[in-house]
Formats: sequence, C-alpha cells, structure tokens
Amino acid sequence: MCGIFGISGHKEAGKITYLGLYALQHRGEESAGIVSYNKNNIIMKKGMGLVSDVFDKKSIDSLKGKVAIGHVRYSTTGGSHSKNIQPFFVKHKNGNLVIAHNGNLTNSFDLSTKLEQSGSIFQTSMDSEIVVHLLAKEVSPSIEKRVINALSQIEGAYSLLLMINDTMIAARDPFGFRPLCLGKLEGAYIVASETCALDLINATYVRDIEPGEIVFIENGKLRSVKAFEPQKHAHCIFEHIYFARPDSMIFGETVYNVRKKLGACLAEEAKVEADFVMPIPDSGSFAALGYAQRSQKPFELGIIRNHYIGRTFIQPSQFTREFKVRVKLNPIKNVLNGKNVVVVEDSIVRGTTSQNRVKTLRNSGAKKIHFCVSCPPIKNPCFYGIDFPSKKELIAANKSVEQIKDFIGADSLHYLSLNGMLDSVGIDKQSFCTACFSGKYPTKIPTKFSKKMLEKNK
Ligand code: AMP
Repeated sequence: MCGIFGISGHKEAGKITYLGLYALQHRGEESAGIVSYNKNNIIMKKGMGLVSDVFDKKSIDSLKGKVAIGHVRYSTTGGSHSKNIQPFFVKHKNGNLVIAHNGNLTNSFDLSTKLEQSGSIFQTSMDSEIVVHLLAKEVSPSIEKRVINALSQIEGAYSLLLMINDTMIAARDPFGFRPLCLGKLEGAYIVASETCALDLINATYVRDIEPGEIVFIENGKLRSVKAFEPQKHAHCIFEHIYFARPDSMIFGETVYNVRKKLGACLAEEAKVEADFVMPIPDSGSFAALGYAQRSQKPFELGIIRNHYIGRTFIQPSQFTREFKVRVKLNPIKNVLNGKNVVVVEDSIVRGTTSQNRVKTLRNSGAKKIHFCVSCPPIKNPCFYGIDFPSKKELIAANKSVEQIKDFIGADSLHYLSLNGMLDSVGIDKQSFCTACFSGKYPTKIPTKFSKKMLEKNK
C-alpha cells in the first residue's frame, strides 16, 4: 500500500506535494519522498519515516519548479530499505524519468527476469522499477507511444504517476484496483490517491482517473488516452473497509458512509443483546457508529487511543507490531466494568491484535464480549497491493469461526456476510474485487511473482 500525489503547473508544486502527502500519510508510514522538476533539473528529497520526519523547511523550499510528484510508502514487494524509497528517478536518453507507484504488479517476476536477461540492472527490489526499465527500452520519439507500450506489458494493480521531464503522467490499471483522483488548484492539475489530499489544500475534485486511462499533463493542458482493452472493474473492497481515510470519496462513494452502512448491516445480521456498542478505535469506529444507530443501542468509547503512535501493522516486524498493540489503546475501566458489550472491529487478519484487545477488555471488567467484524473472514492472500500475510498466517484460512472466537477469547464472534458487505459498498456491487474473502481473483493468479511474495506464500 502506498499513497501518491502529483501537481503540474503550480509555482509552489513542491510545497503543495508535501501537504498532499501529509493527507495521505495513513497509506504508508515507512518512507516518504518528493521529486520536483525545475529548468531541466531534478530535485529530490526522500527519507525513511513519516512525512513530518523526512522534510524540513529547507528541503521543502529547495523543491523548486512547477511540477512535482510525491510518494508515501508501505512495502508490499521490495523490503523496507532506503534504496526502495519512492519516487524512483533515473536519468536516461529520453530525459529525466521519475515514478511513484501504488499497487502490485502480478507479472513482475516474469518481466524482471526477462529484463535482467536482456541486460537491465535493477537498483531496487521494487516492482515499480520494472516500469522504468520498460520505458527506457522504448525508442519512439512520442512520449505517448513510449508510455502506452511500456504500460501495456505490465499486469496487476497500479495507480501510478510518472514524470518525464516536465510532463506529468497518471495511469490506472484497467481493473481500477486502487483509487486515483484528479483535482484542480489555481489552474494547476493534481492527481492523488484519495480526495482527502485535495480537501487539505482546498483543491477542487474534478473526477476519478478512470480504470485503463492514462492522462498526460503538460503546459497546463490535459490529454486523456484509453489504450487498453476495457476490463470488468475490480475495485479493492478493503480500501472501503479499512485502508482509505473515512473523509475520502473513493470509487464514487464516501468511505465514511460505506463504513457506517457496513456496521448497520452487521447489526441486522448479528442481533446481539448488549448494554452498549463500542469500537476498537480507530479502525472500527465508523462501523460501530452504524451498528449502534441501526440497533438503537448506546454508543460508548470503552477504549481510548493514544494518537502519537502509528498504525500497528504498518511496520512489518513482529516485535514492533506487538509492542505497538500494547501501548496504543487504553481501556476505561469504569465504562466497561460489569457490562455486556458489542465490540466492533473492521477486520481480523492474523487475530493476534483482536486477541489482545479482548484480553484487555476482559481485564477491565467487561462481562460479555460480543466481537463483531465489519467484513467476512479473510481467507486468501492479496496479489494486488494489500499486505496480507501468507495463507498460513491468515487465521480464517486455518480456523472455523467458532475456533477463531475461542482463539481471541470472545463470548461470541460475528462476521458480516459477503452479501451484506457488497450491499453496503455502493450501487454497482459487481465492480469490486472480493478475492481475499471469496477466493475469486479478477485476473489470472500469478504462478510466479516477486521473490518476496513467493517466500511468503510457501
Ligand atoms: P488482527 O486481530 O491481528 O488480525 O488485527 C486486525 C486489525 O489489523 C484490523 O484493524 C485490521 O484491519 C488491521 N489490518 C489491516 N491490514 C492489515 C494487514 N495487512 N496486516 C495485519 N493487520 C492488518
């Protein structure tokens, strides 16, 4: 998972990109970077950590020029190393080439093997670098042709931004797995992963970049090209469940409303007796609100979140994950003592965080804990950019609902049904990828993909 932001045609492009990345921080906390283009020069500032750690006034001021693209990263393929920080830049016969990518290519193994055999030398372990090598091999004098030829070779999930000298290019795969939107600010065009980035800088939302669309932006003009065979859309439903920010509008729906509907639908299905409904903050907050309103039960906050700690899963090592789980949330004993509670969480992945939460609630005096989850059991790995663990670590791939209930220590466990989830996400339920729940993958499953994923799914 990652967040991307780019702006073309604004004299403070670097500064605005920095602000845009701030709004997209939830999409990746490992590293951040901005590249701007000024008078034939590339200016680049990248580093490990949060946007607020990586940039200071001096570096932001140095990002001169009217075009800039930025990236926040959470690694899916490629490890958590400084060499993998995006945007990724190379100087080449066709000029300066910069890429920022969100998604996961499903034919990266085949492509990188072929490219290496024909002499390409990879500097990183990111699948995004493949696009750069493919572009570098193109010989056409037309940027448009070079980009179309390169992108037509990649498969899987990509919402990406390219900068070739001062031309900014945005592209979204024909399935539309990841969100990508177009905005405007004082005549400048903006492309961002989520609309919350437009809100922060007071930009106007124009429309989504459509699945299969490539837009070329230069000298204040936008040209849209549809070069790929249209596909049945497969928007990632987990963006709505967990990943996107609730104040964003993605795939035509406001995430906040969708999450509330998921909770309301869960209340219809679960029908549990309890004194009140409470969320696991913040991930379960909006579904819990929807649950409470539909079931007409009081809404309480039995756990308070410490906001000075990032998302627990975002730093992918077991030690940091467990440490963060413990320090992040604090229960309020007086609220919980002697009560029967409905606890709403957005999803269960490995089950370890949920187990911890239930233990905490129990130790704080809760009498009965009914654990309600606003999506179905996650049973299958994702090949399109959500960093779910391997099948052997996905608890629902290995245990029944009853066994998961026992594992996490709840009195009852209720998952939202697949239909209930699809009823909540918008008008066109057929336009979503539900592979992690249903096992129905919208593309052919890669037989070989990146070395890291191969190891994970052994
Ligand atoms: P657990 O009970 O350990 O499965 O943790 C569940 C919480 O972690 C839920 O809020 C999940 O949405 C959140 N989460 C989201 N994505 C991931 C992920 N890729 N890996 C682990 N946990 C995740």
